[in-house]
Amino acid sequence: MTLVDRDLKVIWHPYTQMKIASPPIPIVRGEGTCLFDEDGKKYIDAISSWWVNIHGHAHPYIAKKVSEQLFKLEHAIFAGFTHEGAVELAERLLSILPANQQKAFYSDDGSTAVEVGIKMCLQYWHNKGEGRNKILAFKNAYHGDTFGAMAVSGRSAFTAAFDSLLFEVEFIDLPNISNINALKSQISSLKSQAACFIFEPLVQGTAGMVMYEAEFLNQLMKHCREEGVLMIADEVFTGFGRTGKPFACNHVDEQPDIMCFSKGLTGGTMALGLTTCTLKIYEAFLSDSRLKTLFHGHSFTANPVACAAALASLDLFMEAATDESIKRIETSHHQFKLKIKDHPKVKTIRQTGTILALEWQTGNDTSYFSSLRDTLYNYFLAAGIILRPLGNIIYILPPYCITDAELTYIYSKIEQALDEI
Ligand SMILES: *Cc1c(COP(=O)(O)O)cnc(C)c1O
Repeated sequence: MTLVDRDLKVIWHPYTQMKIASPPIPIVRGEGTCLFDEDGKKYIDAISSWWVNIHGHAHPYIAKKVSEQLFKLEHAIFAGFTHEGAVELAERLLSILPANQQKAFYSDDGSTAVEVGIKMCLQYWHNKGEGRNKILAFKNAYHGDTFGAMAVSGRSAFTAAFDSLLFEVEFIDLPNISNINALKSQISSLKSQAACFIFEPLVQGTAGMVMYEAEFLNQLMKHCREEGVLMIADEVFTGFGRTGKPFACNHVDEQPDIMCFSKGLTGGTMALGLTTCTLKIYEAFLSDSRLKTLFHGHSFTANPVACAAALASLDLFMEAATDESIKRIETSHHQFKLKIKDHPKVKTIRQTGTILALEWQTGNDTSYFSSLRDTLYNYFLAAGIILRPLGNIIYILPPYCITDAELTYIYSKIEQALDEI
C-alpha cells in the first residue's frame, strides 16, 4: 500500500471535504523554501505552510537547538515549576514587544492564545467587580477554531453549525476615513458593558488578506483606551515580520493591553501559543483570595522543546540578514504589483509588508467562483508552487529565506495564469 492509500484509510484532514478532495501529496522532506514529495518533485512553499514558517523548512540551526533540548529536558509541569527556556523566551520577547507588555502566559497554539486573552479580559472585569462582558470584534475576523475563538470570529460557513451556541459579540466594520467617527460612537454607546476589543492588526488573513490602514486602527485604539475598553491584538498571523515590521502593532502609537502569538513564534517548527499582557491586567488577578486566579493551563504549557525552537527562531529573526530579506521581499512584491495591477483579470492587488494578495476578476457566477479556486490551486501545484487561494484571492506569503529567483518564478507563473485561465 502506498502512503496515500494508508492515509486515505485512517486520516481525516483539516479544512478538507474528504469526499471530493484530491488525494494528499506525500511530503518526505523540506529544505529552505521548498517541500519535496515522494517522487522528488519540488514545491515552493509560497504560503509558508499555512503561514507558520519564517526561516525555511528543516532549518539546521533550529533543528540543532531542538535536538539538544530533547536530550536535556523534554517537558516539565509548569505550575509550581519553571525552566530556563520559558523564562529566557519571555524575557527576550517582552524586550522587543511594545513596552507596556510585561507578562507572558504560554499555551498551545493560536486559538488557545486567543482563548487566554479573552479569559484575561473577562476575568479582569470580574475580579474588579464590574459587569463588563461584551466583546467587540471586526466583521469577518478570524481568531481560531476553538469555541471562544470562533465566537469572536465572523459568522461564516466555518461557524454555521455552531452559531446558536456561540456567545454574542458586537461586530464592527473595519475602520476607514468615512466610518471612523461612526465606529467611535458605536463603541461609546456600549460604554460600561464593553469588556474588550479583539482585532487582527492591519491584515485579516483568513478573511482573504483584507488590509486596512494603521492610522484608523490607531484612532480606534485610542478611542477604546479613552472608553476603558481593553484591547487584544491577535498577532498570531501578523507577528514576526509579516507586515514589514517585527509586529503589526509597531505600525500604531496606541498599544494593546494583550497580544497573542503563535504560528511564526517557533519559526513554524512546532506548536506554541503565547499571550502577553500589561501589569494592569496581571495585577487585577493578584489577591489573597485564590478565587481571583486565572484558572487556565494546558498539559504542555511552556513545553521546553517548543521554547527551544522559539528561541532558535528568535536568534535568526534578530539577525540583520532577516530584516534585509523582509525588505527585499517587500520591494520585490511592490514592483510585481505595479507591473500587473492593470491586468484585466486583476480585480485588486494589495500589499502589506511581505504579504501580497491578488483578487481574481470572476464576474458574479458563484459556481465558477468555487471552481476557480481549485483551478488556480491545481495550476500552481503543477508548476511546483504551493499557493492556496482563499476563494478567488491568491496570496504570496513566503518564508523570508525565499530567493529572488524563486520569487521571480512565482511571479512569472502568476502572470502566465492571468493570461491562460
Ligand atoms: C491562524 C490564526 C489563529 C489560530 O491559530 P491556530 O494555531 O491555527 O489555532 C488565530 N488568529 C489568527 C489571526 C490566525 O491567523
